[in-house]
Parts: sequence; C-alpha cells; structure tokens
Amino acid sequence: MDINQIIALDEQYYMNTFGKRLPVCFANGKGMELVTTEGEIYQDFLGGIAVTALGHSHPKLTEALHKQVDCLLHTSNYYYVEPQAKLAKLICEHSCADKVFFANSGAEANEGAFKLAKIYFYKQGKNKTEIISLKKSFHGRTLTTVAATGQDKYQKPYHPLTPGFIQVAPNDFEALLSAVTPNTAAILLEPIQGESGVHPMDKAYLEQVRKLCDEQDILLIFDEVQTGMGRTGEWFAHQYFDIEPDIFTSAKALGGGVPIGAVCAKDFVASAFAPGDHGSTFGGNPLATAAGVAVFEAIEEEKLLDNAKAMSLYFIEKLTALKKAHPQILDIRAAGLLIGVEFSEEHAKNIYNGLFRANYLTSLCGNTLRLAPPLILTKADIDGFIEALQDVLNA
Ligand SMILES: *Cc1c(COP(=O)(O)O)cnc(C)c1O
Repeated sequence: MDINQIIALDEQYYMNTFGKRLPVCFANGKGMELVTTEGEIYQDFLGGIAVTALGHSHPKLTEALHKQVDCLLHTSNYYYVEPQAKLAKLICEHSCADKVFFANSGAEANEGAFKLAKIYFYKQGKNKTEIISLKKSFHGRTLTTVAATGQDKYQKPYHPLTPGFIQVAPNDFEALLSAVTPNTAAILLEPIQGESGVHPMDKAYLEQVRKLCDEQDILLIFDEVQTGMGRTGEWFAHQYFDIEPDIFTSAKALGGGVPIGAVCAKDFVASAFAPGDHGSTFGGNPLATAAGVAVFEAIEEEKLLDNAKAMSLYFIEKLTALKKAHPQILDIRAAGLLIGVEFSEEHAKNIYNGLFRANYLTSLCGNTLRLAPPLILTKADIDGFIEALQDVLNA
C-alpha cells in the first residue's frame, strides 16, 4: 500500500483520537533510522516516545524475540514463566525494588501501584485512601490514571473520575504539605515530568517529600514510565536523584518496543498483595518479558548508561551554544537523554515542523521540543541534529 491508501484506510476505520497524523508510515528501521513505505529515511530523536531505547531492530532484542516466538508466545500466570522471573530479578538488582509485578502498559502499571498503595493501608485497618499527585503531570489514559493526571484537558469529558485524587503545584513543598491529610495514602510524582515538556523536580524538593512520607506514614510512588531504563543515564530516575520511592512504575523502554509495564516495590509494601488481590492475563507473558531481559542485557553489555551520560553532556553543550546565537530558544532542560528545548510561542510549531521536513522526528509538548532518542545515540547523530536545527532556526 502507498501512503495515501494507508491514510484513506485509517480515516475510514480508525477512531479519530490521533487526528491528522504526520503523513508518514514507517515500514522498517535500523538503529537511529526509520524508513517510510516510500523509502524515505528519518532520524528518530523521539524513540517512539522514550520506548525504543536500543534503537530499531537491535540484533540482541530481535534475536531474543525470534527465539521466544519459535518456542512459545503465551501460557498463563497459572504457571511459572522463566523470563518473567528473570526480568523481575533484573529490575530488583538494578533498582531499589525488592519485588515486581508485570502489567501491559504504563497506565496499567500505575493502576497496579494505586491498588498496592490502597491495599497496604486497608490490610492494616487504616482509612488512608487518598493519593496526591502533581499538576502538569501525566500518568496515563485509563479513568483512574486520568484522575491522577493533573491536566484539565484530559479529565474534563470523563467526569465523574475515580475519587480520591488531588493535584498540587509541582516543586512546591508548601502546596504539597497543605494538601496532606490523615487520609493521605500516597504521593505520586514523575521525578522528571515528561509529557509537560521535560520538567525535572528539584532534588531538595524530592528530599523533602521523602522525609514527609516517612514522618506521616505515606507511601512515595515514582512514575518512572518515561524516565526508567537508562533514560537519565542511570537505570532509574530514583538513582539519578539518589532518592528511594516505596513503589515505582516502569513501562515504555522496558520491552524496547514490546508492550510491558511493571509495578516495582519495596518488600514491606509489596507483601500487602496476597494471592488473588491483583492479576493480569497478559502481564509478564513469555514474549514481553523475554524482550525485557534482552533490553537489560543489551544496555549492560553495550554500556549504554555511560553512553547516555556522555551523549547528554555533548548534546546539552551543543544546544547551549545554539541558544546563545538564537533567541528563539528560551530554555534547555534535560536529565540524561530526556531533553526539552523550549522555544518562544510564535516559533515552536514552525521549528518542530521544519525539523520534520528535514527528516528529524521529535515531539512538541506545548512550546517545548521533547527529545528522547535511543541510548545508542552517537556524536555524529547529535551533530546532524544540531545542523538541521540550526538550518531551521536560520530559515
Ligand atoms: C507514557 C506515560 C504513561 C502512560 O503509559 P501508557 O503505556 O501509554 O499507558 C504514564 N506515565 C508516564 C510518566 C508516561 O510518560
């Protein structure tokens, strides 16, 4: 099918939640590159929104998937699953978690985290059911994760939402403090807000929140769906900030492109889940968890955390130089290879479109260009992007 036929099919049969998409369809990819059905090559600086951490068609991941497909796709959680147990071990060895439960997406992992926080207090006979999250956050598209997401545009059509959620301003400890009640079960936050345009929380703020949770018998939940799996240059953002949550969630890059999510927790809270308290048909199935194991092994073997750190520094240096010469750039915010470049309002959309016309894939969050390239990124890739951005800024 050519691109126009694909667009016509989509318009006729697919629900219109994504509106008019960018007019390309990718047929294959390798590393940083994606190739359209028309044979045009694009540089992927979005990584499927922080999903394809290994780039496209990574040999290690591809091989692991081929092997798993040839053996077995799915059994049931009635039975033991070898890659599920292995991936749980890998997550615990590389994070502050002691136990893991697998879901199929970020939203579903967050739902699992909310259930775990609630049942933890329920089993102690405590009436702690409220969850405080932050404004400008993003936690997913299910009804309950929309209730947690502090953006009116996502909530408005869907009232009544799951009760028990309130949002306060990010990075504002006083605002958080005044929202805490004896019923507060958990504080939920993204250590770096992704969808709102890459806004890292202050370390001092996170330290205050951690202390507050300890003092007031409140669970601290980090939504690391976007910031985990090496994105910040550490395995998980809680290590980037050196602050341990009681529960954190992962998804996006965890399967390198195969759908999977994870609820990860310390033993004292994880043990609140007893047999029958939670479950999933697909969660942690052989295919998805074999992918996760391969992603962990590839990041480790290829030292991609070190690469993410080094390329982050190089990228920021280049962007900062560009900012000096181009007043359209207002701000650069980054944590590892999650990078936001904020433009003045009148220029943002044009710059984003100009990059797309130059065959560079990025995303626009408000006036901020969000970059979440694969962790295999090289200096040459960054030089190419900077050149393209410079051309667009000069146009
Ligand atoms: C993408 C994202 C989610 C939702 O993940 P889905 O897999 O789309 O359900 C939740 N939280 C954060 C921080 C995200 O970036």
